[in-house]
Amino acid sequence: MNAIVIGAGIGGMATAIRLQALGFNTTLLDKLDGPGGRAYVHQAEGFIFDMGPTVITVPPFIEELFAINPQASYLQPDFPALADLTHTRRYVELVPLDPFYRIFFADGSNFDYNNDRDHLLREIERLAPEDKAGYLRFERDAKAIFERGFMQLGFTHFGSLLDLLRVAPDLLRLDAVGNLFRFAKKYFTNPKLQQVFSFETLLVGGNPLSVPAIYTMIHFVERTWGVHFAMGGTGALVRGLEKKFLELGGQTRYGVEAARILVNDRTARGVALANGAKLAADLVVSNADYLHTYGRLLASEDRRWHGDWRLKATRLSMSLFVLYFGFKARGDEGERLAHHNILLSERYEALLKEIFTDKKLPADFAHYLHLPTLTDPSLAPPGHHTAYTLVPVPHNGSGLDWSALGPSYAQKALAYLDEAGYLPGLRERLVYTHFITPDYFESVLNSHLGNAFGPEPVLRQTAFFRPHNRSEDVRRLYLVGASYQPGGGLPSVMMSAKMTTRLIAQDFGLS
Ligand SMILES: Cc1cc2nc3c(=O)[nH]c(=O)nc-3n(C[C@H](O)[C@H](O)[C@H](O)COP(=O)(O)OP(=O)(O)OC[C@H]3O[C@@H](n4cnc5c(N)ncnc54)[C@H](O)[C@@H]3O)c2cc1C
Repeated sequence: MNAIVIGAGIGGMATAIRLQALGFNTTLLDKLDGPGGRAYVHQAEGFIFDMGPTVITVPPFIEELFAINPQASYLQPDFPALADLTHTRRYVELVPLDPFYRIFFADGSNFDYNNDRDHLLREIERLAPEDKAGYLRFERDAKAIFERGFMQLGFTHFGSLLDLLRVAPDLLRLDAVGNLFRFAKKYFTNPKLQQVFSFETLLVGGNPLSVPAIYTMIHFVERTWGVHFAMGGTGALVRGLEKKFLELGGQTRYGVEAARILVNDRTARGVALANGAKLAADLVVSNADYLHTYGRLLASEDRRWHGDWRLKATRLSMSLFVLYFGFKARGDEGERLAHHNILLSERYEALLKEIFTDKKLPADFAHYLHLPTLTDPSLAPPGHHTAYTLVPVPHNGSGLDWSALGPSYAQKALAYLDEAGYLPGLRERLVYTHFITPDYFESVLNSHLGNAFGPEPVLRQTAFFRPHNRSEDVRRLYLVGASYQPGGGLPSVMMSAKMTTRLIAQDFGLS
């Protein structure tokens, strides 16, 4: 039997590996000229830039993918029991980072965040000793949410409202449905700590002011498995996954764009490519953006459930401005900065409101500054660093003209990093710059209005209310990746791949 996966993002690749191991002749296709999707690699003048994800969490999910073979498909819904990274090591080296993040506040103070409880308590003591007891209560409650929401329910496909109703009382009891920032405020009186223990959802497209507090589980996901970096960059992980898929006998086709999912008798039959070719298949998986998949790849007569009104009602996540830059090293960069740096502005709630609610470009910045050459110098020519800085911005529903704004926004970001003392003298040391705006997400990655993370993870787009992994409109059409259940971020899209493949195995009588 033949399967086609549209989109070679991490979720698409993970699904392709799983389907190929299950016995489907699987073709993985992407409009880009290589794999990775948001984790695509940009290379220029000796600098290697991961364009997207850099924070690697839950290595057992990666180990499970590299361990898969036709005899061991690891489709059980529980958590992977693989204790070490034996299989992963054959493809990519993952190294733990400490600190996970260095969080800088506008007044120059900072907080080193990691998974050592005593260290965290010392950091809290330094900034706000009055909140130490609050952390102990936060830790207890976040752990309970993690155990129920991630360890027990993580692989649940919420295909019916009943699935949700079964777990709703638990989530209410754990206070996991109110917003995350409100949850953090229950435990911390200091505004800096309220930010430290709520900002992380921004890395997966969630506004701390509106994501449900179930996302507090991220704290324990990181406490449990740490934060890792793939030596050679996330691109090395992507190449490892591609190699695994090819070793299993799968086929890749890059530089080909799907134009339409072919449907006959309400059943997916294959894919028509933009170049006019048609590929037949027994099942189709889309790893592309939700609104692109339903709004563009499916004809309107094939969408009974996903009518235009439903698609229009979707609230999309924010977009990003990402500036990639290479610069001459001074040698002291590691004294102030860590591998992952969060540079917070004076404003937090007001800034988030401007970006997410008012869809305005804020005058001040909140940056995530990535400096991977502190861990792996091979990513830049000798004596240089490779870096990127990421700024959350509204998606293209804002009407902002990025072709006009982009260059000056890049200059402003560089000036900020230089003048605020994060990278002094940066502008004189610059060797290479390149940036992407919401337009890249919209036109290159086919993400509706340039959203960076799929539908925004608000309560009404979480669990049962997030697009399902098995299409309601068309039989043998499946959906995987950040737009769909369980959501965005690398661990989630790998979970999405496992959940989706389980549904396929059930539908084809293979489980
Ligand atoms: C800048 C940035 C930084 C991030 N940092 C982190 C991080 O540190 N840690 C973390 O866990 N997560 C991070 N994320 C989130 C994470 O990268 C994503 O959630 C995840 O990579 C999405 O994977 P996916 O499987 O949904 O596929 P995507 O990566 O979205 O790939 C979808 C693919 O589909 C292809 N496609 C679309 N339409 C078509 C078509 N019609 N025909 C053919 N191909 C098509 C696209 O070209 C693309 O390659 C970050 C995201 C961004 C943008």
